[in-house]
Amino acid sequence: MTNPLYNALLKHQSDDAVFLDVPGGGALSYGALRHAISTAAGALGAAGVEPGDRVVCQIAKSPEALILYLATVAAGAVFVPLNTAYTPVELDYFLEDAEPALLVLDETTQAAKPVAEARGVATAAPLDLVNSTATPLAAPAPRETGDLAAILYTSGTTGRSKGAMLTHGNLISNAQALKVCWRFTAKDVLLHALPVFHTHGLFVATNVTLAAHGRMIFCPSFNLDQLAELMPQATSIMGVPTFYTRMIGDARFDKAAMKHMRLIISGSAPLLAGSHRAFEAQTGHAILERYGMTETNMITSNPFAGERRAGTVGHPLPGVSLRLANPDDAGIGSIEVRGPNVTPGYWRNKEKTAESFTEDGWFITGDLGIKDTEGYVSIVGREKDLVISGGFNIYPKEVEVEIDALPGVLESAVYGVADADLGEVVAAAVVLESDGATDADAILAALTDRLARFKVPRHVRIMNELPRNAMGKVQKAALRTDHPSV
Ligand code: ATP
Ligand code: MG
Repeated sequence: MTNPLYNALLKHQSDDAVFLDVPGGGALSYGALRHAISTAAGALGAAGVEPGDRVVCQIAKSPEALILYLATVAAGAVFVPLNTAYTPVELDYFLEDAEPALLVLDETTQAAKPVAEARGVATAAPLDLVNSTATPLAAPAPRETGDLAAILYTSGTTGRSKGAMLTHGNLISNAQALKVCWRFTAKDVLLHALPVFHTHGLFVATNVTLAAHGRMIFCPSFNLDQLAELMPQATSIMGVPTFYTRMIGDARFDKAAMKHMRLIISGSAPLLAGSHRAFEAQTGHAILERYGMTETNMITSNPFAGERRAGTVGHPLPGVSLRLANPDDAGIGSIEVRGPNVTPGYWRNKEKTAESFTEDGWFITGDLGIKDTEGYVSIVGREKDLVISGGFNIYPKEVEVEIDALPGVLESAVYGVADADLGEVVAAAVVLESDGATDADAILAALTDRLARFKVPRHVRIMNELPRNAMGKVQKAALRTDHPSV
């Protein structure tokens, strides 16, 4: 028996090939990576971590974070990364839920130590593990493809984060499918400016690069100046829509500067069709938008070779099936998926797992979608964000599209607020362009001509920016909670 994920991601690169370029911090070769992995895996074993145990890491983005992910896999244990923004109080929930054998904290997350002590969870520092003098792991621990490699907590956009279990097989199938679809090779240099506690930066970016034997330029965070400086060395970039909307209008990202790029990928949150077009006009690149979630890895992608259709997330990946359940008259249905990429369920949460699968075994994403005649899928929104007002269904996106098209408007988020009479009414948070000469009344007046009455927001609030999390997701739950009482 072997270790399937380790073998798929780490066995075949030549020792001299570079895996990571750390701006200002040197390079890490594949040989050095494998060496660091066996050292850290040995240290995990010495710290009492056994196959199947959880290792929770709440550490800043660093090469050590990736080494610990891969060392945990090599040790046969289960990697559980956490957003460094979580407070010690929030961390306590994850420790209770994941029940780890070890919690890795760095200098940025030391405040969590008392919480770990109170729960009797051992802690370690990443550098101590990676530079340990413990006996290195001689060979990766044997695992089956159905064994867990990681538990990733969802972003908590619609409620409390849930621990999605991800098997070796889940991660291998997605890395292979994406590598092929996006044509990643050993020549690729991926500009990596995403966090590594989330599926996008951890699995999509890192696993695809490893599977392709490629290289990553590993930026500590998203910084437009740094991206402008490093772009000439890269062949490809993966980002959330905010990366690209910030590049729009910035002359450093023009056609000449982007000409050498092979591929520009967006995901984790919707990229507006208008942004897609503006980016293409400026840079000459049609962004490739894809769609996925923590529980399923990536589900759909726009084509590498065919048309990358603005406002859509493309077609299901090879091996992944997607259906739209209970479609309405317009064809909008609930997105359900099936395939080797899909989680076996939520960690220690049988109830939530049962709720999330249909009787015939499809995973219920909670997203609403529609397909065009050529099978391109568009995400209409989340089921939980659907506003039901006086018995009518209102998809926030159709209202947002109208608001965004108004002069002076940069972007908007539409959500439902409780109403004694109608159950819910539509509310909108709107961000104006810097020189946007409009206001809430003008927006409302313009919408009255364009939308059926029940879809017209009752409340429009102008905001400086929309509340977003680290992945660029608009926090509609936060908008609902702090909606001004009127
Ligand atoms: P939670 O499940 O805890 O509420 P979350 O769903 O935001 O949080 P993630 O797994 O990080 O947690 O995000 C998956 C969701 O992100 C998808 O269900 C979908 O709503 C959204 N998403 C991802 N990619 C895209 C995309 N290209 N366009 C629109 N939405 C996307
Ligand atoms: Mg979700």
